[in-house]
Amino acid sequence: MAKPKEKTAAPRARQKRRRSRYSADEVREIFRRFAVQRPEPKGELEYVNAFTLLVAVVLSAQATDSGVNRATRALFREADTPAKMLALGEAKVGEHIRTIGLWRNKAKNVIALSEALMRDFDGEVPAERDLLVTLPGVGRKTANVVLNIVFGQPTMAVDTHIFRIGNRLGLAPGDTPEQVEAGLLRVIPPDYLQHAHHWLILHGRYVCKARRPDCEACIIADLCKWPGKTCDVPAPLVPLEAVGSSQ
Ligand code: SF4
Repeated sequence: MAKPKEKTAAPRARQKRRRSRYSADEVREIFRRFAVQRPEPKGELEYVNAFTLLVAVVLSAQATDSGVNRATRALFREADTPAKMLALGEAKVGEHIRTIGLWRNKAKNVIALSEALMRDFDGEVPAERDLLVTLPGVGRKTANVVLNIVFGQPTMAVDTHIFRIGNRLGLAPGDTPEQVEAGLLRVIPPDYLQHAHHWLILHGRYVCKARRPDCEACIIADLCKWPGKTCDVPAPLVPLEAVGSSQ
């Protein structure tokens, strides 16, 4: 019997890795400037340990960081470990986070997450992505945030801002967050990787905004290769006051 033709199938264009539009020197210069502007970028979500950061990131989906912080301050005072969160129970967790969007589902997730941590990891947050993503409500992006902030791993948590910048500038073009993540990890010099995701989020949130990028305030306007940019003179490179990047 004739063997059915195997699907080799992914079209050539899809298989092809989309390359950065920037040379290694240009990428290095972009991140050198980000590092001058924000030498110690930090996340904005408040937490007291790995578990509470994990919970805060889970709660931050489709919510503002300040809104999450307002709810979690009291929650984390009562429950800063999976065991205490379980003891508190879903209804009480729900009361604490009622001001956050999708709070019912999120309260369920926080309890399920705490149960899984107790059952599978002795109540500790694992320091490996493959293990983190087995937890309820934890996807690759959340895992990358925790690995970066708590465990100091040079991960790239691609959120909406980073996805936009990767594609708009052609720094790491990709159809999916995973492709953009892989592209950025390839092009960003290793010595800048630890803080790179904070820098990109902050750049996307405050300057290279979705609707109307503020190219006149952009410190990389001369390097940017987006055809739609409205300025190609870089803004003065001065250190800014510390501001959090949300993750
Ligand atoms: S020049 Fe404009 S489009 Fe380019 S990175 Fe800066 S803000 Fe974004």
